[in-house]
Amino acid sequence: MREVDWDGVIDAAMDAARAHLASLPTRPVWRDVPPDEIRAALGAGPMPDEGTPAAEVVRDLAKSLDPYVTAMNSGRFFGFVIGGLHPASYGADLLTATWDQNAGLYAPTPGATVAEEIAAQWLVELFGLPADSSVGFVTSGQMATFTALAAGRDHVLREAGWDVEADGLYGAPPVRVVTKSGRHGTVGRALRFLGLGERVASAVACDANDRVDVAALGQELRAVGGPTLVVVEAGNVNTGSFDDLEAVADLADEHRSRGNPTWVHVDGAVGLWARASERHRHLTEGLERLDSWSTDAHKTLNVSYDSGIAITRHPAAHRAAMSIRSNYLIDTEGVREPIDHNPEHSRRARGVAVYATLRALGLRGVSDLVDRLCHLAGRFASELERSGRATVVNEVVFNQVLVRWHPPDGGDPDAFQDEVMRQVAGSGEAFFSGTTYRDERLMRISVSDWATDEDDVDRALSALFAAANAD
Ligand SMILES: *Cc1c(COP(=O)(O)O)cnc(C)c1O
Repeated sequence: MREVDWDGVIDAAMDAARAHLASLPTRPVWRDVPPDEIRAALGAGPMPDEGTPAAEVVRDLAKSLDPYVTAMNSGRFFGFVIGGLHPASYGADLLTATWDQNAGLYAPTPGATVAEEIAAQWLVELFGLPADSSVGFVTSGQMATFTALAAGRDHVLREAGWDVEADGLYGAPPVRVVTKSGRHGTVGRALRFLGLGERVASAVACDANDRVDVAALGQELRAVGGPTLVVVEAGNVNTGSFDDLEAVADLADEHRSRGNPTWVHVDGAVGLWARASERHRHLTEGLERLDSWSTDAHKTLNVSYDSGIAITRHPAAHRAAMSIRSNYLIDTEGVREPIDHNPEHSRRARGVAVYATLRALGLRGVSDLVDRLCHLAGRFASELERSGRATVVNEVVFNQVLVRWHPPDGGDPDAFQDEVMRQVAGSGEAFFSGTTYRDERLMRISVSDWATDEDDVDRALSALFAAANAD
């Protein structure tokens, strides 16, 4: 084996890592930077002819790129839905990078494969799903929904006498897709990947909190028969609301009893974690009766990027949609082969960080984490309402808060929302992102970082009030 300056590389990376993590409490949460500044810092231009020693590259990289790294893990980043970095995940990911396992098959990567197998089993227990559910560790909620719907597409068409894996969609019975108007954009993209297209998806009306209208969903299902995929939500990306999953499960049973192959998928990118909390589990009643679930470990669980999870109650359909065998691969009896559960062929052992984080938190810790995020979201909501400067637009049931700031007399209300967010971002104190909901600009608060505490919320509120009062 060639000699390598591991110490030099590790020292360079770890010195920078320590400095970065230590800087989080004081680093500006957000910076507006012109891309040319970063290009210049990183030496954009023709690729160099000659190489540079690895340790030197790592040291340079840390120096030139770290100033442009957003403090997403600071505890005061409330934009999008961004989980922080749990230390157990961080440590496990450093090891995963070090071990560099191509974790597709047990035989060449037994340790990583079993760590993922255990993580899979713990997740199924944590979420209270059928014990023999199948689990895939994928990159994201996007790929989790894609994976689950690929299994669903296989299942409903197989029940209709069609093998989509072998024969594709030309000539297949049409697959109906019934979803809601407030669905996440990744659902439509998954439908594109699956060859179903976005236009086949109906958009059933929702209530003011973006919960699907159950009566309208029932009507939509009764209108047409045939193989049917239904997509509903646990944790809407704007409002944090949960669909009435018990009612959805009843409608699915009814649809099935009329002879229609039916698969219901739950987009639980944010909200599946409510299952871990006694206080919030009631939001998800009936969820265990559905067919597949997608979630993100990189959101509520605070595992490092990128970490999505696809779970189905139909292991055979999951395997039919995802498995692959080539003449040079090695099969092992009696183990869960990652390659059968995700769309990747070669892949990093991303489930190892999930294992480590679940182990670090325990059932109690995940429950406390969920409750704390929701409690802090509630604190934002009540303080904003109390101030009289803003209206909380959604019913805050989980970790998401939608806010409409009251503009100064004569001010443009929509522009004012963006102005408040821009000023707070500019202060570096905190970051919030916006959304357009029911034709109104709103500020959106997502409390998703395990590191966030009451002090972070109070500092962020001070920055918000300063911005709102500046005009
Ligand atoms: C974040 C999110 C997704 C997409 O997850 P990614 O990990 O970003 O691909 C899907 N649905 C909901 C409700 C989300 O909040």
